[in-house]
Amino acid sequence: MSANLPDLAVRYALVLLEAPNSPLPLPYEIPEHLQEAVQFGVRVAVPLGRRRVVPGFVVGFCDRSPVPARTIRSVLTPEPLFDEAMWSLAQWVADRYLCTPQEALRCAIPPAALGRLRRRIRLQAEPLLAVLDDDLRRAVELVRRGASEGALRRAFRARGEEILRALREAGWVRHEPDAHLPEAPTERVLRLAVPPEQAQEVVERWRRRAPRRAGLLERLLRSGEVPRTGVRADLVRDLVRAGLVVEERRPLHRDPFPRTYQEVAAPVTLTPEQETALGAIREALRGRRHAVFLIFGVTGSGKTEVYLQAAEEAIRSGRQVLVLVPEISLTPQTVARFAARFGERVAVLHSRLGAVERLDAWRRIRDGTCTVVIGPRSAVFAPLRNLGLVVVDEEHEASYKQEEQVPRYDAREVALERARRAASPILLGSATPSVESYWKAQEGTYHLLTLPRRIQDRPLPTVRVVDMRTEQGVLSVTLLRAMRAHLEAGDQVLLYLNRRGYAAFLLCRDCGEVPRCRRCDVAFTYHLHSRTLRCHYCGRALRAPSRCSRCGGVRFRPFGPGTQRVEEEVRAHFPDLTVARADRDTMQRRGAHERLIADLQAGRIRVLVGTQIIAKGLDLPGVGLVGVVAADVALSLPDFRAAERTFQQLTQAAGRAGRGDRPGEVLIQTYRPDHPAIRAAAHHDYLAFFEAEIASRQVHRYPPYTSLVSVIVAGRTPLGAERAACAFAEAATRTTTAADDLASGRSTEDPEVLGPSPAPLHRLRGWYRWQVVVRSVEPDRARERVREALRACWGLPLRPPRGVRVVVDVDPVEML
Ligand SMILES: [Zn+2]
Ligand SMILES: [Zn+2]
Repeated sequence: MSANLPDLAVRYALVLLEAPNSPLPLPYEIPEHLQEAVQFGVRVAVPLGRRRVVPGFVVGFCDRSPVPARTIRSVLTPEPLFDEAMWSLAQWVADRYLCTPQEALRCAIPPAALGRLRRRIRLQAEPLLAVLDDDLRRAVELVRRGASEGALRRAFRARGEEILRALREAGWVRHEPDAHLPEAPTERVLRLAVPPEQAQEVVERWRRRAPRRAGLLERLLRSGEVPRTGVRADLVRDLVRAGLVVEERRPLHRDPFPRTYQEVAAPVTLTPEQETALGAIREALRGRRHAVFLIFGVTGSGKTEVYLQAAEEAIRSGRQVLVLVPEISLTPQTVARFAARFGERVAVLHSRLGAVERLDAWRRIRDGTCTVVIGPRSAVFAPLRNLGLVVVDEEHEASYKQEEQVPRYDAREVALERARRAASPILLGSATPSVESYWKAQEGTYHLLTLPRRIQDRPLPTVRVVDMRTEQGVLSVTLLRAMRAHLEAGDQVLLYLNRRGYAAFLLCRDCGEVPRCRRCDVAFTYHLHSRTLRCHYCGRALRAPSRCSRCGGVRFRPFGPGTQRVEEEVRAHFPDLTVARADRDTMQRRGAHERLIADLQAGRIRVLVGTQIIAKGLDLPGVGLVGVVAADVALSLPDFRAAERTFQQLTQAAGRAGRGDRPGEVLIQTYRPDHPAIRAAAHHDYLAFFEAEIASRQVHRYPPYTSLVSVIVAGRTPLGAERAACAFAEAATRTTTAADDLASGRSTEDPEVLGPSPAPLHRLRGWYRWQVVVRSVEPDRARERVREALRACWGLPLRPPRGVRVVVDVDPVEML
């Protein structure tokens, strides 16, 4: 550098501390020797308070500090973990979902990139070596050379603790975080330690006496090396001791997608509808223009081909593609087709990737080696720097919403925001679009592209509705008769339970009546212990009646058969057939899903009983009949989306029938055969469903006409929970913004506070849960009101008292 140039070195870095209770970045001076290393997005160690050194992220720079700044201690992770665009997105997520920027950033950084933080001790003052005893002098020397606390303990054995304490108390050393980065992924393999001829000789000798050892040697002779995993430990030990085999580590061979995915032949010519859709998308792609396309296409109408060709176009112009799917294992065909078309350039962010493999994929995406990223919800934070197209397949799926941990983001919304920022088109595809998305298409915010026909022109299955009010038992006579006919014809049968019933409800077996809260239009939840019905939106509670209020019938009982019960019934009726069950309990084991699919495809299973797991994404040509055992379970969920979910699940289940050469048959068992969602599903009529549903949403003030924020207040004691929930509801109700309401002429009823009321899952793992819902016609207003009330009650970032937990969910999808 030339001497007469002014000093351009930036003096301060803005550091966002990792501890989430400090939402604002703080300025820290960059020492001379770290000028190069301190880049945007790296992780650094900085002093905090009098004695602590803590980790943080560099999120900006400045030339001047408004406060006396301290100095960055070290760089913990030299590789930038995010760029400016990702930091900006994280701030958007934090604002949108009422979380801290740290919590939002955590979505963007693979845990392995952070490594494990080790605590290192560092010399911070120069002790006068002359006044120290021998051991202390030696300890100071060791610390100077970078020894860890553990090393000191080992070096001084019994005196270790005492020496460490002495160093600390004298103020000579202090603890600092030190990143420990994982190494490149490796796997252990076995190789021959002797020449092949010699090994062959041993094989001959051992073939009889020790067939397993001989077998392993033969495998090694054939393929050169064998992965260590899966080979019995004693076998390896014996052969290594005999000097025939060595065990080595070598870089893990990465397999971006499981080999079980098979290429699906792509149709050569496009239908006119596909052409039209692609034309519109291409125009946006070429103009580098943000636009939202809702692709409404029935199952088998060729949506994936549209995604693929749009992706090709984006890649041709040098940009990257993000494809979101509900769950990798449930959408093997979509993943396989992308993998087949784009090969090595595809990164599949499978939920089963190990931490190091995930880091590896993350780096390849960031460096631009991968141009197509396919993954579930979390992939929306993939470090694509040159995004040109976003695809959200099955956009109506509830799994796009993170419901388990903070931030409770909606990947579809984050994807829309990313596409907007990247000036890219985004494709939302579904056979049963979400009510919100279809409404936006009708309003003209989204462009609607319709693919109304199945490509191979196969007829849709015939759907029959079975009125359970006149039937006995779990399986109706009609369903049993149909099962028998299909099984005799060699078909497979799927019996589908809409979902596991989380919330109990009362159902009249004579007329199908389910008591509902008239104000909120959701089914009452039945609380067995108190024999009460409660609306968990508004909190209304009433004693559970023993008679039906509509028909006076006395067969008025809690409802919800389980998969196990249905499986037993099937076995009782068809004792000679193989029956399998697929639900959350049986599908948890690794590989269970793949095994089930293989058994189904090979025809080893004749009847499968399952939850929604079986209704998704499987292509099972042998299935002639799908029976929906209890449509009422989904219909009566205490959720304003109950009808929508029911329609989607019925349509999806029906899509599983008759995808072979014969049209299939679907039987829907229900106590409410006249419900619009069930009638529309029976007639394959999305529009009829949508018209009924959107009208009801408007009347009852639900999304898309309003926005909801749900706040769950949980307490260790029933009273503590109720008190905290009431305090929050009161704070949210107080019209702190009454003045500007008057000024703007807005109703003081908006935002509206519903509750507090016991959550449908009132007692969960030792917590008592209450729910408060804030609703507004303006999304910003609902969030702002909740933010104010949270701040008033517990401070922001949230610091509720001991024994109280607060969960904030913006735009909740499952309100349980
Ligand atoms: Zn009744
Ligand atoms: Zn209510």
